[in-house]
Amino acid sequence: MNIDPQTALERCETLMLDMDGTILDLAFDNYIWKDLVPRRYAAANGMSFAEARDLLFEKYAAVQGDLEWYCLDHWNDRLGIDVVKIHHDVTHRIGYLPGALDFLRAVHAQDIRVLLVTNSHPDTLHLKDAVTGLADYFDGLHSSHTYGYAKESQSFWAALQEDAGFDSATTLFVDDSQPVLHSAAEYGIGMLVTVTRPDTTEALRRGSEFRGVESVKDLLARL
Ligand SMILES: [Mg+2]
Repeated sequence: MNIDPQTALERCETLMLDMDGTILDLAFDNYIWKDLVPRRYAAANGMSFAEARDLLFEKYAAVQGDLEWYCLDHWNDRLGIDVVKIHHDVTHRIGYLPGALDFLRAVHAQDIRVLLVTNSHPDTLHLKDAVTGLADYFDGLHSSHTYGYAKESQSFWAALQEDAGFDSATTLFVDDSQPVLHSAAEYGIGMLVTVTRPDTTEALRRGSEFRGVESVKDLLARL
Protein backbone atom coordinates (compact mmCIF):
# COMPACT_ATOMS: atom_id res chain seq x y z
CA MET A 1 0.00 0.00 0.00
CA ASN A 2 2.79 2.43 0.87
CA ILE A 3 4.44 2.27 -2.55
CA ASP A 4 6.49 5.31 -3.49
CA PRO A 5 4.40 7.78 -5.49
CA GLN A 6 6.50 7.85 -8.68
CA THR A 7 6.60 4.05 -8.93
CA ALA A 8 2.85 4.00 -8.39
CA LEU A 9 2.29 6.28 -11.39
CA GLU A 10 4.56 4.10 -13.55
CA ARG A 11 2.67 0.96 -12.61
CA CYS A 12 -0.92 2.17 -12.70
CA GLU A 13 -3.41 1.51 -15.48
CA THR A 14 -6.14 3.64 -13.93
CA LEU A 15 -5.34 6.91 -12.21
CA MET A 16 -8.11 8.28 -10.00
CA LEU A 17 -7.83 11.88 -8.92
CA ASP A 18 -9.85 13.78 -6.35
CA MET A 19 -10.76 17.35 -7.38
CA ASP A 20 -10.73 19.84 -4.47
CA GLY A 21 -7.41 19.83 -2.66
CA THR A 22 -5.81 17.47 -5.18
CA ILE A 23 -6.22 19.17 -8.58
CA LEU A 24 -7.88 22.43 -7.56
CA ASP A 25 -6.80 24.73 -4.74
CA LEU A 26 -8.83 24.04 -1.61
CA ALA A 27 -8.30 27.72 -0.72
CA PHE A 28 -11.46 28.47 -2.75
CA ASP A 29 -13.66 26.10 -0.75
CA ASN A 30 -12.11 27.10 2.56
CA TYR A 31 -12.69 30.78 1.74
CA ILE A 32 -16.33 30.09 0.88
CA TRP A 33 -17.19 27.94 3.90
CA LYS A 34 -14.94 29.39 6.60
CA ASP A 35 -15.18 33.06 5.67
CA LEU A 36 -17.78 34.13 3.12
CA VAL A 37 -20.73 31.95 4.20
CA PRO A 38 -20.31 32.86 7.91
CA ARG A 39 -20.10 36.56 6.96
CA ARG A 40 -23.27 36.41 4.84
CA TYR A 41 -25.03 34.31 7.51
CA ALA A 42 -24.05 36.80 10.22
CA ALA A 43 -25.36 39.72 8.16
CA ALA A 44 -28.63 37.92 7.38
CA ASN A 45 -29.24 37.00 11.02
CA GLY A 46 -27.95 40.06 12.86
CA MET A 47 -25.14 38.25 14.68
CA SER A 48 -21.38 38.68 14.90
CA PHE A 49 -19.01 36.86 12.52
CA ALA A 50 -17.62 34.80 15.43
CA GLU A 51 -21.11 33.72 16.54
CA ALA A 52 -22.11 32.80 13.00
CA ARG A 53 -18.85 30.91 12.41
CA ASP A 54 -19.17 28.87 15.62
CA LEU A 55 -22.78 28.00 14.84
CA LEU A 56 -22.02 27.04 11.23
CA PHE A 57 -18.97 24.95 12.12
CA GLU A 58 -21.25 22.89 14.37
CA LYS A 59 -23.67 22.40 11.49
CA TYR A 60 -20.80 21.46 9.16
CA ALA A 61 -19.38 18.94 11.64
CA ALA A 62 -22.76 17.22 11.98
CA VAL A 63 -22.78 16.17 8.29
CA GLN A 64 -19.05 15.89 7.53
CA GLY A 65 -18.45 12.77 5.44
CA ASP A 66 -22.11 12.67 4.34
CA LEU A 67 -23.30 13.64 0.88
CA GLU A 68 -25.34 16.54 2.33
CA TRP A 69 -22.09 18.27 3.21
CA TYR A 70 -21.27 18.58 -0.49
CA CYS A 71 -24.76 19.57 -1.66
CA LEU A 72 -25.32 23.30 -2.16
CA ASP A 73 -29.12 22.90 -2.19
CA HIS A 74 -28.90 21.33 1.26
CA TRP A 75 -27.12 24.44 2.58
CA ASN A 76 -29.47 26.81 0.77
CA ASP A 77 -32.35 25.15 2.64
CA ARG A 78 -30.56 24.75 5.98
CA LEU A 79 -29.04 28.22 6.18
CA GLY A 80 -31.60 30.31 4.33
CA ILE A 81 -28.88 32.10 2.34
CA ASP A 82 -28.08 31.64 -1.35
CA VAL A 83 -24.95 29.47 -1.21
CA VAL A 84 -25.11 28.80 -4.96
CA LYS A 85 -24.99 32.55 -5.65
CA ILE A 86 -22.09 32.94 -3.22
CA HIS A 87 -20.14 30.39 -5.29
CA HIS A 88 -20.94 32.20 -8.54
CA ASP A 89 -19.95 35.57 -7.03
CA VAL A 90 -16.35 34.49 -6.46
CA THR A 91 -15.59 32.10 -9.35
CA HIS A 92 -12.44 34.13 -10.08
CA ARG A 93 -10.95 32.46 -7.00
CA ILE A 94 -11.29 28.95 -8.48
CA GLY A 95 -7.93 27.70 -9.70
CA TYR A 96 -5.54 24.80 -10.16
CA LEU A 97 -3.05 23.90 -7.48
CA PRO A 98 0.56 24.65 -8.47
CA GLY A 99 1.76 22.09 -11.03
CA ALA A 100 -1.63 20.40 -11.36
CA LEU A 101 -2.38 21.53 -14.92
CA ASP A 102 1.10 20.49 -16.11
CA PHE A 103 0.51 17.12 -14.46
CA LEU A 104 -2.90 16.65 -16.13
CA ARG A 105 -1.43 17.49 -19.55
CA ALA A 106 1.43 15.03 -19.00
CA VAL A 107 -0.72 12.07 -17.93
CA HIS A 108 -3.28 12.85 -20.64
CA ALA A 109 -0.51 12.19 -23.18
CA GLN A 110 0.26 8.79 -21.58
CA ASP A 111 -1.50 5.46 -21.94
CA ILE A 112 -3.21 5.81 -18.55
CA ARG A 113 -6.94 6.02 -17.95
CA VAL A 114 -7.55 9.12 -15.84
CA LEU A 115 -10.76 9.43 -13.81
CA LEU A 116 -11.97 12.31 -11.68
CA VAL A 117 -13.43 10.84 -8.50
CA THR A 118 -15.02 13.51 -6.35
CA ASN A 119 -17.49 14.09 -3.55
CA SER A 120 -18.26 17.42 -5.15
CA HIS A 121 -21.88 17.87 -6.26
CA PRO A 122 -22.34 17.79 -10.08
CA ASP A 123 -23.41 21.47 -10.02
CA THR A 124 -20.19 22.49 -8.29
CA LEU A 125 -18.19 20.21 -10.58
CA HIS A 126 -19.72 21.89 -13.64
CA LEU A 127 -19.03 25.33 -12.22
CA LYS A 128 -15.39 24.45 -11.60
CA ASP A 129 -15.04 22.85 -15.03
CA ALA A 130 -16.53 25.96 -16.68
CA VAL A 131 -13.80 28.06 -15.01
CA THR A 132 -10.81 25.70 -15.39
CA GLY A 133 -11.66 23.35 -18.30
CA LEU A 134 -10.43 20.41 -16.23
CA ALA A 135 -12.84 17.90 -17.85
CA ASP A 136 -10.71 17.98 -21.02
CA TYR A 137 -8.01 15.99 -19.24
CA PHE A 138 -10.16 13.16 -17.91
CA ASP A 139 -11.53 9.98 -19.45
CA GLY A 140 -14.43 10.05 -16.99
CA LEU A 141 -15.93 12.30 -14.32
CA HIS A 142 -17.47 10.54 -11.34
CA SER A 143 -19.39 12.43 -8.65
CA SER A 144 -20.35 10.40 -5.62
CA HIS A 145 -23.79 12.07 -5.73
CA THR A 146 -24.56 10.01 -8.84
CA TYR A 147 -24.21 6.84 -6.78
CA GLY A 148 -25.83 8.11 -3.59
CA TYR A 149 -22.81 7.37 -1.37
CA ALA A 150 -19.84 9.54 -0.37
CA LYS A 151 -16.29 8.29 -0.98
CA GLU A 152 -16.03 7.61 2.76
CA SER A 153 -18.48 4.72 2.23
CA GLN A 154 -17.58 1.22 0.96
CA SER A 155 -20.80 1.32 -1.08
CA PHE A 156 -19.34 4.16 -3.13
CA TRP A 157 -16.35 2.08 -4.24
CA ALA A 158 -18.51 -0.91 -5.13
CA ALA A 159 -20.78 1.34 -7.21
CA LEU A 160 -17.81 3.00 -8.92
CA GLN A 161 -16.25 -0.37 -9.71
CA GLU A 162 -19.47 -1.58 -11.28
CA ASP A 163 -19.78 1.63 -13.29
CA ALA A 164 -16.17 2.28 -14.31
CA GLY A 165 -14.75 -1.25 -14.14
CA PHE A 166 -11.28 -0.74 -12.65
CA ASP A 167 -8.74 -3.28 -11.41
CA SER A 168 -7.98 -2.37 -7.77
CA ALA A 169 -4.44 -3.78 -8.00
CA THR A 170 -3.40 -1.47 -10.84
CA THR A 171 -5.29 1.60 -9.68
CA LEU A 172 -3.57 4.64 -8.19
CA PHE A 173 -5.85 6.95 -6.21
CA VAL A 174 -4.75 10.42 -5.10
CA ASP A 175 -6.77 12.38 -2.51
CA ASP A 176 -6.10 14.91 0.26
CA SER A 177 -8.75 13.49 2.63
CA GLN A 178 -7.50 10.93 5.13
CA PRO A 179 -10.96 9.38 5.84
CA VAL A 180 -11.44 8.96 2.07
CA LEU A 181 -8.01 7.34 1.65
CA HIS A 182 -8.80 4.97 4.53
CA SER A 183 -12.05 4.05 2.82
CA ALA A 184 -10.23 3.35 -0.46
CA ALA A 185 -7.63 1.26 1.41
CA GLU A 186 -10.36 -0.77 3.08
CA TYR A 187 -11.91 -1.43 -0.32
CA GLY A 188 -8.55 -2.68 -1.58
CA ILE A 189 -7.39 0.05 -3.95
CA GLY A 190 -3.79 -0.94 -4.52
CA MET A 191 -1.90 2.33 -4.58
CA LEU A 192 -2.76 5.38 -2.49
CA VAL A 193 -1.11 8.78 -2.30
CA THR A 194 -2.08 11.88 -0.33
CA VAL A 195 -1.54 15.56 -1.18
CA THR A 196 0.23 17.43 1.59
CA ARG A 197 -0.56 21.00 0.47
CA PRO A 198 -4.21 20.95 -0.61
CA ASP A 199 -4.67 24.65 0.27
CA THR A 200 -1.94 27.04 -0.92
CA THR A 201 -2.75 29.48 1.89
CA GLU A 202 -2.16 26.90 4.61
CA ALA A 203 0.90 25.08 5.97
CA LEU A 204 2.08 21.70 4.72
CA ARG A 205 0.12 18.84 6.30
CA ARG A 206 2.21 16.25 8.09
CA GLY A 207 1.55 12.99 9.85
CA SER A 208 -0.41 11.07 7.21
CA GLU A 209 0.16 7.34 7.19
CA PHE A 210 -0.06 7.43 3.38
CA ARG A 211 2.80 8.42 1.15
CA GLY A 212 2.47 12.08 0.22
CA VAL A 213 3.34 14.54 -2.52
CA GLU A 214 3.17 18.31 -2.07
CA SER A 215 1.80 18.61 -5.62
CA VAL A 216 0.49 15.96 -8.00
CA LYS A 217 3.26 17.15 -10.32
CA ASP A 218 5.72 15.43 -7.97
CA LEU A 219 4.29 12.08 -9.18
CA LEU A 220 5.92 12.76 -12.55
CA ALA A 221 9.53 12.61 -11.44
CA ARG A 222 10.33 9.45 -13.39
CA LEU A 223 7.55 9.23 -15.99
MG1 LIG B 1 -10.30 16.72 -1.64
